[in-house]
Amino acid sequence: MKKNFSTEVVLDSFERQNYLRLQSGLNKAQALAHIGHWELDLTDNSLYWSDEVYRIFGLEPQEFGATYGAFLKHIHPDDVGLVNNTYMKSLEEKQGYHVEHRIVRKDGEVGFVEERCEHEFASDGRPLKSIGTVHDITKRKIVENELILASAVFEKMKDGVLITDSNQRIITINRAFSKISGYTLEEIKGKTPHVLSSGWHDTLFYQNLWSEINNNGQYNGEIIDRKKNGELYTAEVNIIALRNKEGALTNYISIVNDISEKKEQEKLIHNLAYFDSLTELPNRVLFEERVISRIPALKRANKKMAILFIDMDNFKNINDTLGHFVGDKFLIEVAKSIKTLLREEDTLARLGGDEFTIILEDIGSIVEIIPIVDRIINKFKTPVEIGDKALYTGISMGISVYPDDGYTYEELIKAADTAMYHVKESGKNNYQFYKEYMNEKITQRMLIENDLRGAISKNELFLEYQPKVNLTTKSVYGMEALIRWSHSSVGLIRPDMFIGIAEDTGQISQIGLWVVKQAVSDTKILHDNGNRLTVSINVSSKQLDDESFVEDICKIVDGIGLEKRYIELEITESHIMKDVKKALSILNELHVKGFNLSIDDFGTGYSSLSYIKKLPAKTIKIDRSFVLDIDKDEDDRSIVAAIIAMARSLGKDVIAEGSETQEHIDTLKHLDCNQVQGYYFSKPLKIDVFKEFIRNFKGEGKAV
Ligand code: C2E
Ligand code: CA
Ligand code: CA
Repeated sequence: MKKNFSTEVVLDSFERQNYLRLQSGLNKAQALAHIGHWELDLTDNSLYWSDEVYRIFGLEPQEFGATYGAFLKHIHPDDVGLVNNTYMKSLEEKQGYHVEHRIVRKDGEVGFVEERCEHEFASDGRPLKSIGTVHDITKRKIVENELILASAVFEKMKDGVLITDSNQRIITINRAFSKISGYTLEEIKGKTPHVLSSGWHDTLFYQNLWSEINNNGQYNGEIIDRKKNGELYTAEVNIIALRNKEGALTNYISIVNDISEKKEQEKLIHNLAYFDSLTELPNRVLFEERVISRIPALKRANKKMAILFIDMDNFKNINDTLGHFVGDKFLIEVAKSIKTLLREEDTLARLGGDEFTIILEDIGSIVEIIPIVDRIINKFKTPVEIGDKALYTGISMGISVYPDDGYTYEELIKAADTAMYHVKESGKNNYQFYKEYMNEKITQRMLIENDLRGAISKNELFLEYQPKVNLTTKSVYGMEALIRWSHSSVGLIRPDMFIGIAEDTGQISQIGLWVVKQAVSDTKILHDNGNRLTVSINVSSKQLDDESFVEDICKIVDGIGLEKRYIELEITESHIMKDVKKALSILNELHVKGFNLSIDDFGTGYSSLSYIKKLPAKTIKIDRSFVLDIDKDEDDRSIVAAIIAMARSLGKDVIAEGSETQEHIDTLKHLDCNQVQGYYFSKPLKIDVFKEFIRNFKGEGKAV
């Protein structure tokens, strides 16, 4: 083996030294450049490798056969063909070549080399020698391959990637990011990620995001961004702050995952779990969650919350007779109707079957619940219409209030449920509070409703009379009949407690006629004894609705034989105002028959002068509320003065009710109001006591 092709030349010692120096310098240079050189003598097939070639191949000189064939053995098996073909071809074509290929080192490690080669030929064209270089490019290749791999991954990644410089200017995005955001690299390069901002998040959100990145080097979370076409999308993002070895910030990398679809699916699953599919209302689970979640805030704000538990009275019947299809439609309609009666912030839920619940939030006091509850109960007084069917159903409702009836969901729902069952037991179609005292009130109403029917026949009703006094003549000129109910077990019940119920249940007509009969009879007796007083009788507007009212009342009065001009019918101003036209026609009818008419509670009904003029009323009765402070309150005094002036100009009498004190009387006198009624002279009295009163009346009163 030729160790060195130049050794054949005979050198003197100086030349030899110079040569050796040159040789070692060359070796160093080769080592530095990772380039070795070789020569293949084609005449005897001997191969020379420089030290660097041995290093590159990882071989010691004694381990190497130093032939072309031996060389091929150290080429990566997949590249042997390439190397051999390239070499043979170049020899044939008498041209140099350049090839990159892999080698396998002794330890099995794969390296990359770049070879360049030229050939020398004899004058007759015979090949003599191939001379080449081997460049170890392993390091560069590894980096290159990694880059190729990285960019392939970058491009093929399913996640969107956005890379910015340290100033947040976008450097590059991958294909997935383009797909998610709709932007191409050209459109977005150089801009900041702000172009993606949806406006959905507030400043605080971004402050948090940046403080996370600055403190922890990265942020993980969900962001709602905007696509190029304006559409919003929810992205799961991972933003990483990249620093170099010196710790300086170089880039931000955002890895973005569009999870809008996932979100949609989550929503769907959420809906299945939290909403009732029939009515689309919150179901029991969501209802419970809402109740529980509201409690801490209510506690802090010292507010109340009402839980309404509703059960439809007639659902089973509807379902059984008309089938499930109609039953389902019915429930959907019920849900819709109730929903329209609630406020935005209230929750209506369906627990299942025909059971609904409502959360009324932010209740200041229990009183605020009543109008909402009334609206719901009243709504179902008219039928629910499904196709051509009108389905009647009542509602039974139980109400519990946080924190009065319980502090937890369980306590509240149980209380509302219990209250609802009480409603069912006591005749349905109503509501009931869980609270004891509220229950009492409801029970009271039901007791009144039930027992009022028998009150007349049991002789439990009676009248009291309150004198009406003329201040000028200092005489009692009339009286007002006021009804009382002496209940066998409860005791005395005042009209305010039962007149309204009598009106609601239609019993007022009968009761009203009973009052007329009694009052007119009592007055007739007074007349027969020489006391020609007028009697005032209160008439409810519901009685005026009764078509036979005029006829009935006339029959009674005529039967007793009292002149109608001694009878004054008091009708409250607000009742007249409800339907002026109708009131006017019936009042005219009564007027024509000879009755006197009085407008009761005047001042509270917002009447206008023009219509007062048309009313055939003889008297205007100033409401008690204006008299109460008449000696102290300037405004009240002015109102009363105005009413009196107006009444005078229309030729009507004025009477002030509720005159309790000497001061009231003095002020009224001063305002030229001469007719008064009130505790100053007397409370309402039973007829015998009343007779006694007028016998002894000396024109003076004593305040009560
Ligand atoms: P109203 O027609 O305004 O009757 C006057 C009410 O004021 C009576 O209450 C009377 O007792 C009360 N009152 C009289 N003087 C004074 C006073 O100086 N101070 C105060 N604080 N109150 C005074 P009552 O008897 O409880 O009647 C309440 C309401 O019930 C009546 O108000 C009337 O609207 C209705 N009512 C009474 N009897 C009948 C009736 O036979 N038929 C109808 N439809 N309603 C009646
Ligand atoms: Ca009255
Ligand atoms: Ca009154």
